[in-house]
This record gives sequence, structure tokens and C-alpha cells, in this order.
Amino acid sequence: VRTKPHLNIGTMGHVDHGKTTLTAAITKVLAERDGTNRYVAFDRIDRAPEEIERGITITIAHVEYETPTRHYAHVDMPGHADYVKNMITGAAQLDGAVLVVSAQDGAMPQTREHVVLARRIGVEHLVVALNKADLVEDEDLLDLVELEVRELLTRYGFDGEAVPVVRVSGLRALDGDPRWTQRILHLLEAVDEHVPIPPRRLDLPFLMPIENVLTITGRGTVVTGAVEQGVLSVGDAVEVVGLGPAVASVATGLETFGKPMERAEAGDNAAVLLRGVKRGEVRRGQVVCLPGSVRPHTRFRADVHVLSAAEGGRRTPFAANYRPQFHFRTSDVVGVVTLAEGVTVVRPGEAASLTVELGQPIAMSAGLGFAMREGRLTVAAGTVREVLD
Ligand code: GDP
Repeated sequence: VRTKPHLNIGTMGHVDHGKTTLTAAITKVLAERDGTNRYVAFDRIDRAPEEIERGITITIAHVEYETPTRHYAHVDMPGHADYVKNMITGAAQLDGAVLVVSAQDGAMPQTREHVVLARRIGVEHLVVALNKADLVEDEDLLDLVELEVRELLTRYGFDGEAVPVVRVSGLRALDGDPRWTQRILHLLEAVDEHVPIPPRRLDLPFLMPIENVLTITGRGTVVTGAVEQGVLSVGDAVEVVGLGPAVASVATGLETFGKPMERAEAGDNAAVLLRGVKRGEVRRGQVVCLPGSVRPHTRFRADVHVLSAAEGGRRTPFAANYRPQFHFRTSDVVGVVTLAEGVTVVRPGEAASLTVELGQPIAMSAGLGFAMREGRLTVAAGTVREVLD
């Protein structure tokens, strides 16, 4: 039984600015305050195997906690070899995010990169944790960093004036320092107030991008992800679409955070047990949907923002026939780029209009955000303008 509205949030920000420490501090402060929350220690965040043993559980990088008014699933991806790749998956599902900026270092290239991606991929609401505030004694300096962060947010299309900026110290709060513990509670109040409960599109056909595929001994193949739209009930027929031929099945079980449920709806983190499907037949990057409701596509027109080096992007332009990887939701497929007529190269920092042909078909529609990447480099962030075929 759902008693509080559920939201998906996560931490973003430059490496070492304190995302994981802050995540651990949030769970600790709340667990100590009201006992209904579970403390997840720094080194236990993102432990996959024991999570999987507990049952058909949700994705590995989530911790969950409650504030007086809401239930949150919080994504943190500590120590991942490729943070951005995971962030793209996460961002597509986030209702809001905590942008962690070190008060000592200020905004860094990855800070800008994550803000650009968040904006394009659909995270509309940010709250800033100006972290490591324990290391900066000078209030004027803190004001300056705050101003700089607000300007950056405005430049990338957020309302920089309105975004809450809360000075915190994840580390000192973890140590139990009351002053800093209080600041963590302020941060959560800011999230409660500033990140609205999103409209859940329950009227549209069910769609869930697959994030993970698990095999549960004796039960079969389970796919997990965040439900993007619609409702699915136990016993409903489904289809797994994209990256190859569609696979038909029936959802014979549904769970969220290890608890069985009768139906999964938009906004839920769900695990879906698929009847008669072998593990190798379905994979991350496909979507689970109602039979016949989604046809995957390979060609589209898009508007992109090409990241500059200061945003963590390329240093050199790219030309026609460029072949980067395209990340849509949880998928990662190669595509070939065609430039607009008369355009020979696209430079870092520029906006461009492209036509793309993907190597494999995926579920998409106009307005869907994506990232273009080359190895570990984020080349561009874009939006599908028009689906071609
Ligand atoms: P992440 O890479 O963004 O997840 O950063 P981590 O949480 O791993 O923290 C990076 C380093 O910064 C670690 O050595 C932390 O102990 C330290 N750190 C994190 N938060 C704070 C803070 O609020 N104050 C201080 N002084 N150090 C911090």
C-alpha cells in the first residue's frame, strides 16, 4: 500500500565533490531522526550481489528513504568506471536531482557536463548541495561560489535564481555534527519543496526501458527499470521491443524494492518477471511495452548542443559521416551523422541540426533526449526533432 508519493531523485556533479558521502549522510541523518529509514554506509552503496540475492529487486544503485511527505528512490553511482553512461540512464528517470558542487572547487567541467545532460535528457528540477562547506570559512567566498553556480544554471536553461542552494557538509553530517546534520535536513526540505510531484502519464500505454536483466533461480528472467508511462498488471501480455526482433511474453510477477505488487505504474521502479523468456533473449536498452504499441526506429532528425572542452566535450570539430554512440534512455547504439546542407563541420560549443541513422532500431518519439558519446567523452546532448523511419 502506497502511503506517500514516490519520486526518483539522484546526485550529479564532478568527481570527488562528495556525491556518495552526501548520499550516505542523507540516509544516516534520516535513520537517526526517525528510525523508519535505513542507513546505507558509504561503502555499501552500490553493492550489487547481495541486493540481487534478496529477490527480484530493483536496480543496484538505488537507496530509498522517506521524508515526512514523500518516499524517494535515490540513485548514486559511486566509483563507476563511466559515470556519465550511468547518469544518462538515470537522468531519463529522475524527477529531480541534487547537483553536488564542492564549495572549495566550484563548478568544474563535469559539473557543466552533467547540467547540460540533465537539461536535455529531461531533469527539470535541480537543488544544489554546496558541499564541503566545512572547508570554507570565508562567507564571501561561499557567496561567490553560489553566485557562479546560479549563473551556470541560468546559462543552461534552469531558473538559476529560484534553484535552492544549500550549504552542506556530507562528511561532517556523517560524523554526527549537529550543525551539519541540520543542514542535511534543510537540503531535504528544499528537495521536498522545490521538486514537484511529476504528472504520471497513466493514460498512455505501458512502457518501461530495461535497465537490467537478471535470472532468479526457479523463477525465470526478470527485467528491471523505471516505468516511464502507463500501468501494467500481473497477467498482462507484453512485448520486448528494440535492438532486434520483438519478443512476446506475459508479466507473471511484479515487484518494487523487493516487495511484490499487483500493478506497476508510471514513476515506479519495477522488476517484471517474464514468462517463457530466456535471459539471452532480452537485454538492456530494449523497452517492455504493451503488444503492438511501439515500433522502433533507426532514422531521425535532431537538434544538438555540442559540448565544448570546458563542458567535458571534444576539443576538435566533427564532420559528416561521424559515427559516435547514441544513448537513449538505457540503450547505447552506434549511429552515422549527416550534417545540414552547406555545413561541413560542427565545432565544440555550437548548436547544430543533424540527421542520424542508427545501426539498430530503438523505441523513440519526437522530444526524446539523448547523448552522443565517443569513448568516455560526451560529444553532444540533443533532442529528437522528427522521427524519419
Ligand atoms: P564523489 O566522487 O562525488 O562520490 O565523492 P565522494 O563522496 O567519494 O567524496 C570524495 C572525497 O571528498 C572523499 O575523500 C570524501 O571524504 C571527501 N568529502 C566528501 N564530502 C565532504 C565534505 O562535506 N567535507 C569534506 N571536508 N570532505 C568531504
